[in-house]
Amino acid sequence: MKNRRLKRVVAATLILVWLAAQNFDAQTALAWAGSQAKAAKKPSASATHNSEKRILAAEKGAGEDGNWLAHGRTFNEQRFSPLKQINDKNVKDLKLAWSLKLDVDRGTEATPIVIDGKMYTTGAYSIVYALDAGTGKLLWKYDPKVPRDYAERACCDAVNRGVAVLADKVYVATLDGYLVALDQATGRVAWRVDTIIDRSRKYTITAAPRIAKGRLIIGNGGAEFGVRGYFTAYDAKTGKQVWRFFTVPGDPKKPYENRAMEMAAKTWTGDKYWDYGGGGTAWDSMAFDPDLNLLYVGIGNGAPWNDGHRSPGGGDNLFLSSIVAVNPDTGEYVWHYQTTPGDRWDYTATQHMILADLNIGGQTRQVIMQAPKNGFFYVLDRKTGELISAEKYVNVTWATGVDKKTGRPILSDTANYAKQPQLTFPSPYGGHNWQPMAFNPQTGLVYIPAQEVPFIYVNDPKFKMNKRGFNNGLGLIAQGIPEDVFSVSAILSLTSGKLLAWDPVNQKAVWKVDYDHPFNAGVLSTAGNLVFTGTADGRVVAYSADKGEPLWQAAAQTGVIAPPITYTVDGEQYVTVMAGWGGALALVGGDIAKAPGVRSIARVLTFKIGGTATLPPLPAEEPMPEIPANTASAETVQKGRELYHQYCVFCHGLAGVGGGVIKDLRYLSAERHKSFVGIVANGLPGKGMPDFEGTLATDEIKAIQAYLIKRANDEKSRKAVNNRK
Ligand code: CA
Repeated sequence: MKNRRLKRVVAATLILVWLAAQNFDAQTALAWAGSQAKAAKKPSASATHNSEKRILAAEKGAGEDGNWLAHGRTFNEQRFSPLKQINDKNVKDLKLAWSLKLDVDRGTEATPIVIDGKMYTTGAYSIVYALDAGTGKLLWKYDPKVPRDYAERACCDAVNRGVAVLADKVYVATLDGYLVALDQATGRVAWRVDTIIDRSRKYTITAAPRIAKGRLIIGNGGAEFGVRGYFTAYDAKTGKQVWRFFTVPGDPKKPYENRAMEMAAKTWTGDKYWDYGGGGTAWDSMAFDPDLNLLYVGIGNGAPWNDGHRSPGGGDNLFLSSIVAVNPDTGEYVWHYQTTPGDRWDYTATQHMILADLNIGGQTRQVIMQAPKNGFFYVLDRKTGELISAEKYVNVTWATGVDKKTGRPILSDTANYAKQPQLTFPSPYGGHNWQPMAFNPQTGLVYIPAQEVPFIYVNDPKFKMNKRGFNNGLGLIAQGIPEDVFSVSAILSLTSGKLLAWDPVNQKAVWKVDYDHPFNAGVLSTAGNLVFTGTADGRVVAYSADKGEPLWQAAAQTGVIAPPITYTVDGEQYVTVMAGWGGALALVGGDIAKAPGVRSIARVLTFKIGGTATLPPLPAEEPMPEIPANTASAETVQKGRELYHQYCVFCHGLAGVGGGVIKDLRYLSAERHKSFVGIVANGLPGKGMPDFEGTLATDEIKAIQAYLIKRANDEKSRKAVNNRK
């Protein structure tokens, strides 16, 4: 760019000298040269820059069809593209155009931003990639060097959901809590701010920053570990903090931050919630309506999950599990709608929110739509927060419905697990998790990546805050998870994934596609009558938007969870998805989410009609190594099982089943078993394995090892049985 400007200025000067030599009118010549120099200063650069005007033009259908300028493509987060060069007739000819291998093979959840042929995206540990969107050529890379042991404090993998781009900068929020502005052309750091108010607590960020009124808005995660949620607006140019909104009240001995906190504090009871942090993290979804001047933010679960410990005298516990609307200029509270009052199930309302105008009862209503974890699909008036309708989109056992008058759920007789364990749908993984939906204004349908996963909630009467592991106030997860083959297959029979095409006006499914496994990808819909998504079993797929007919699929060699996007380069349409298995259910769910043979290989995959690229052959599956004999007592194995599910499960998976993301500990070699105690005590620096020195005694580590050896032998005999078949 610099070079080109220099050339123009030199050329203008040379022409000026030539004109002067020809006795040309000097004033005209000077004016002309001045205009050339001015032109050299501006336009070529601004053509590749993003602006709120451009995002708004995309939203109004006034240009920008070939770009993906904001997280949900537009401020209303519809994830709908007007492109139709790829359509229901020719999508069968969609082939890989290029792919790019990422640095870290873990969960890959980003939505790439594409501006005028350049793509900006992220992988695990918040690493940013700038690419040529037509070829996949790497233009620059920014690695924020997040300490790898931050993986332990991320409830749901070291993921990142993407960047924001505004003016000449690319913005990333890092897993360790910094908001970083990068020069769009070079990737150099322009500014970097610490967004975390208390570094003694386990805050993380996995979300993409959002743009509104020249600010970047970002929240955080960490409610499973005991934090107080908030979201903050920073000036996009300088990184200066403009305002901050806390989502739950703090210590009542200190003054309330604002009237909203005073109101919220009345809905909490007991004297511990501020020690626990309270939770309510805004870890993912936002939407912005520039006309109403409202910013909508989805708020997460309580800390701890179990309300009996968090707020023992009851109460709604605002603003847990709520959609909160604030003024983006000031951060002032405008309205809220709480989807799960007094939440005790980890039913976050951080799931994707879509703004649309719908014809309901002969009237155009400005609505906001969400399918939060709790299993109900909500349509609200986005000006006031008034409930228009709410219906179950998956199996729901904790409530029988939502009262239209009060807007509150009607609890079922299995809603309370204080006295006895309750088998409940949905699970903490939700009827729908963070994976974005899409709204197609042509079909009028919302496409929901939904799932059926049960969970047994067990009260832990002896709960107290723990520095390691989750603080959810529940009894050991292991108590509810049987490990014998018959019980496991019984649980699996209750578990599935599905893509629902949901009519939000009539609140019912119009079509659906069933999947054996839950935790499938986010969704894109296009004017080509298409819906694109990906699957836990390793495919990228397309269906017709109106009928759900399967039209296309491609092998991704890995579970796909991120939402596809589409754009054009030089008039040609491309479809891109960040492929890479990981995230909450993948890490923890063991056999529940893991499709046979699935593993994590993180890549950018880009398709076009008639593409000719191929992926390298899939590496062979790891064979079962020689494993030590199972000699420990049943008592030691049981002790190891309990400790494993207290400390190890959140990365290595339920029942010792690695979810295909990181090392399956049943496949540890005899060599590794020899150094097991040392590895657990000291960790594996730089690899994400933290040290447990001071947390676990040597005999406890040995008990965990005995449990894993037992599970490895179980797996060996299971494989032997399967081989005989
Ligand atoms: Ca949570």
